[in-house]
Amino acid sequence: MLHSFGLRFKPWTDYAQIIRSEITRRSQRPVDFHDHSLLNARLADDKSDGPFVDYLHAVYAGKRPDLILAIGAPAANFVQRYRHRIFPGTPMVFTAVEARRVQYDKLTQDDTVVAPAHDFPASFENILRVLPRTKTIAIVNGASPNETFWLGELRRETAPLTGRVELKFYNELSFEEILKDAANLPPHSAIFWHLMNVDAAGVAHEANAALSRLSAAANAPVFSYLDNFFGDTTVGGPMHSVEEGSAVAAAVAVRILNGEKAGDIKTPPTKYASPKFDSRQMQRWGIKESDLPPESTVLFKPPTMWETYRWQILTACSVILLQAGLIALLLIAHEINQPLGAILNNVETAEILLKGRSPDLRGVKEIFGDIRRDNSRATEVIRRLRSYVTKVPFERKDFDLNYQIGETVKFLLPEARSRAVVLRSRLTGAPLWVNGDPIQLQQVFSNLILNALDAASDTTLAERAVMVETAQDRKFAAISIADTGPGLSAEAAGKIFDPFFSTKKHGMGMGLSIARTIVAMHNGQIEAENCNGAVFRVRLPLA
Ligand code: ADP
Repeated sequence: MLHSFGLRFKPWTDYAQIIRSEITRRSQRPVDFHDHSLLNARLADDKSDGPFVDYLHAVYAGKRPDLILAIGAPAANFVQRYRHRIFPGTPMVFTAVEARRVQYDKLTQDDTVVAPAHDFPASFENILRVLPRTKTIAIVNGASPNETFWLGELRRETAPLTGRVELKFYNELSFEEILKDAANLPPHSAIFWHLMNVDAAGVAHEANAALSRLSAAANAPVFSYLDNFFGDTTVGGPMHSVEEGSAVAAAVAVRILNGEKAGDIKTPPTKYASPKFDSRQMQRWGIKESDLPPESTVLFKPPTMWETYRWQILTACSVILLQAGLIALLLIAHEINQPLGAILNNVETAEILLKGRSPDLRGVKEIFGDIRRDNSRATEVIRRLRSYVTKVPFERKDFDLNYQIGETVKFLLPEARSRAVVLRSRLTGAPLWVNGDPIQLQQVFSNLILNALDAASDTTLAERAVMVETAQDRKFAAISIADTGPGLSAEAAGKIFDPFFSTKKHGMGMGLSIARTIVAMHNGQIEAENCNGAVFRVRLPLA
């Protein structure tokens, strides 16, 4: 492998690295890689070619390599210049070199090219598409011989943009000056990062470090044409995929190692991959997804609220649902009190009427009619209430009830603490997969635990505790919620699951009724008994 700028110079070393591991992966035989580098290719007045050629001669005098991989334009040019002296007859792959930098007329039967073709007009169109108000584009391009070639190409290809945007070339500035200028660009500016190998002051730069500094200092978004510059420094767009390009080069190399003639392998120049954008940069520069070209991929998206806070959201939703339910119930309670009150009134009136000597039977009949009407109103309210409970959207899926109960307990810990009740749980080690609606079942268990906390705080005993346990009982998940409260009185025991039965001052008496309906919808059972305090047991079939 002949490198152009040393062994740690991006983006070329990225190509070299991927090509190397791809060849190793694809080749049936072990491959021994030798690295050599034209360190001085960064400099204009390099005189080291001659001794370097002699050195390579000496190294490979006895054993010629099977393949030469030239990485980058200077390596390609070097090989084309000295080919006849170094390795005549050894096959060669030119890669990580732009198609324009290869002298195709000097290619021999032993050479093949795997080259990307830059499309600067597409890069600039991309900038103007995602930021249509752009007025100035600053172009970063260094001053080494290779970069000077590209300056000419950039000027030529951006010529059609004159009049539409102001173009500012940074090739005559040192990198420090570039940083200063980029920090003070006028509003509606963008920066296009091409190359910064050697700046105008003669200082060599490693692209990634320089690009990170520029991106941090600039007051405008930075764009580029290579995806190994991508990752919180550049905005994105259509770019070369280093991975794709390297994979093509590696495949060609392996074909040659397997005996194919290099000159017979023709690879069309690789084009930009489909556009990629960095969501952090989009946010920073106010670019919306709808501004992006079709088929763009947005990467580095922060996890959504849902992904980060799934459990908290679910729990909050179920609490809201419960509250909404309670509000609805309060309204219904009012609605039901009205007809019941009217019935009572009517009965009392009828009693008075019937007490008289000659009762007004017609009046009584009318009153019975009213009672019948009020009765059906009350029945209707209750029917609606039941349908409200049973018809809430029911989403069935398999989920781990054990985990969900653990989360519910965690969620209610602060509530328990505020009531000076110790809330404990003993959960099975293994998950308990059930099929059903996680939100509704969570509503059941938070309701049972809240009732237990109510009961436990309703005692003068020193021990105020609630214990939640889960277990697997054959094909069922068995959950129990036990408290150290006063337990269920004989009278209450038979009625607690009835709607509107409550012994609490502000109780609605609907919690257990709803809980039983939900458990029944999941083909489960719920029951209560006394044991220290009260213990509620729920059994749900396992999925
Ligand atoms: P509410 O909590 O509004 O009263 P519920 O339907 O949840 O409605 O409960 C009905 C009644 O069942 C409660 O008022 C209470 O008398 C009784 N109850 C429920 N849980 C317990 C418990 N853990 N210990 C003792 N009594 C309970």
